[in-house]
Amino acid sequence: MIILNEHLGQEADEVADKLNETYGFSPWIDCKTHDFFDKFLTCVQRPTDLPKGILSTSLELRRKLKDEYGKDKKVLVLTQRDIFDSDNPNHVDFDEDWLFSFSFGKLSMISTARLKRPDNKPSNELQVSEDLYMKRLQALAVGEIGLGFIHNPAHFKDAIWVNTTKGNRLKLGPSCTNNSCAMYGVVDIKAPHADEGYMLLGKEKRYDAGLDNLLERLGDRPDWLCKRCRDSVKVGKEYL
Ligand SMILES: [Zn+2]
Repeated sequence: MIILNEHLGQEADEVADKLNETYGFSPWIDCKTHDFFDKFLTCVQRPTDLPKGILSTSLELRRKLKDEYGKDKKVLVLTQRDIFDSDNPNHVDFDEDWLFSFSFGKLSMISTARLKRPDNKPSNELQVSEDLYMKRLQALAVGEIGLGFIHNPAHFKDAIWVNTTKGNRLKLGPSCTNNSCAMYGVVDIKAPHADEGYMLLGKEKRYDAGLDNLLERLGDRPDWLCKRCRDSVKVGKEYL
């Protein structure tokens, strides 16, 4: 597996270490310039000094990465740009449509844009401790990458974020049902207030799907997987 980063060398090292500790393989690290990502990603300009956002529909990038690294390699991109889930760069709701991460085929991508503050707002500057910032990033990486080879075990259920104030629902994909496992779904930095919404896990409403809440539950355990996820790990050759 390759961790391709956009000037995030230290972050790439920390993620590689945690993936190695958790899953037992050593990702290879590569770096590309802003120009490379500008060329192969669909960017959205915002009326702020934040870097351009990008859309999760990254067809061009997927093609380019296949050319560059071969079609069978798994690539995790780390970027400081906000990722938005929209098909149209002209109709993006900057407060609602953002994602921490996504996976599509052999490409996974994680954004650091919303990991730097006590709340979920995007920032260029680190406003929480470096330790918390790196742990947030590592937890997202362990969860996102694990989905590639912990294949829907029996204890997984489909998770949906239900925004009760706006009435919209967003599919999050499969999630572990153990809330003290890195494969548990997260919807925000802090678990949203019950008035705002909940994560529907199978038929159950969960009000604990914050990234920082998950980190508190993971505590100082070196292994962030629950036993059932641990027993289901089978790393494919595209990761080696
Ligand atoms: Zn689990």
